[in-house]
Amino acid sequence: MTEKNYGGAAPFRKQIKEAKSSSSLEFSEKDKKQKKGLDEIDFDKQKILKAGHITSEIREYVKEIVKKDMLLIDLAEKIERRIIQLDGKPAFPVNLSINDVAAHYTPAFDDQTKAHGLLKVDFGVHIDGWIADTSLSFDLEGNDENKKLILAAEKALDNALKIVGEGKSINEVGKEIQKTMESYKAFPITNLTGHSISHYELHAGFSVPNYNSGTREKFEEGIYAIEPFATFGNGRIYDGKPSGIYELIDEKNVRSPIARKILDFVIDKYSTLPFCSRWIVKEFGQGAMFGLKQLEDNGNLHQFSQLIEVSHRNVAQAEHTVIIEKGKVEVTTK
Ligand code: MN
Ligand code: MN
Repeated sequence: MTEKNYGGAAPFRKQIKEAKSSSSLEFSEKDKKQKKGLDEIDFDKQKILKAGHITSEIREYVKEIVKKDMLLIDLAEKIERRIIQLDGKPAFPVNLSINDVAAHYTPAFDDQTKAHGLLKVDFGVHIDGWIADTSLSFDLEGNDENKKLILAAEKALDNALKIVGEGKSINEVGKEIQKTMESYKAFPITNLTGHSISHYELHAGFSVPNYNSGTREKFEEGIYAIEPFATFGNGRIYDGKPSGIYELIDEKNVRSPIARKILDFVIDKYSTLPFCSRWIVKEFGQGAMFGLKQLEDNGNLHQFSQLIEVSHRNVAQAEHTVIIEKGKVEVTTK
C-alpha cells in the first residue's frame, strides 16, 4: 500500500503501540526492538529477507496469472493463498487498483469487477511482523499510453534505487523520480509517497516524496518502501469511496457482540496491519458487515479511502522495499 502525505491515522497507531507496550509483555518486547532500530535488526534480518524473497517469487507468479477479464477477487485470492503456501502472511489485502484509481482498491466479498485497463497489483508479505511491500503495473488493453506510464514508473523506481543510501538526501530521490518521469512527459503523483516500515508498522513515520519537495531529511538505517506513481494527469489524488480496507486504531470496548468478536479477531490476527471486509466476511459471514460499521462508528477502526487521480487520468505504480543497514542497501523484494 501507499501513504497519503496528509491526514491519515498514523498518530493513532503510535498510541496503540504505546498502550500495548504498557499492558502486554509481547508488545513491550516488540517495542523495545523498534526503539533500538536496526541495532537489533540483525536478529530479525532473516525474517525481513524471507518476506522479501516470498514477495519476489510472487511477483513472477503474478506476471504468469494476470489476464484481462479475470475476476479481481480470483486474482486477489490466488495471490493471498500463494503467500500463505510459501509460509508468509499477507501484510495487507492485495490492492488491485484500475486506471484513475491510484491505490487502495481491494475486491469486496461479492465483487464482480474484472481485470482491465491499467491494473496495479500492490501486495505485501510479512513474517512475524517484518514486512516486504511491492507492486507491479499491467497494461491489459494494448494501450501505448499505459505502457509508457508503466515504463516511466519502473524507470523512476530503478533510478531512485540507485541513489538510496544511509545519509543520502531523501529529496535527491524525489528529484530523480520527477526528472525520470518528466523524460517520459509524465508526472509523479505528489501527494502519494514512499514510507519507512517498522515492525508491524506498514507506515512507520518517514515519508519518501516522489518529487522535488525540498525535504531536508536524510535516509537512516531502516526499511523503506520506494513507490513512484506516474500519470499524464494533474498529479494529485483525492479521497474517493470507502475501500473496505481497515486498520485498528483503538481497542476500546464496543457493546455489540458481533463487533466485539470481530475486534478480538482483528487484534489477534492482524494487530496493527491493514485488513479488509472480504477477510472478515469469510470468517464471520455477511453479518460481519454490520459489525465492521459499528467498529468504525465507535472509533475502533479506521477505514481507508480509495485514492483517485484528480483529473481522472490513468496512474501506473512501481514499488520495491529496501533495507539500509551498516552503510549497505539491499532491495529485499527483487
Ligand atoms: Mn505497496
Ligand atoms: Mn508501500
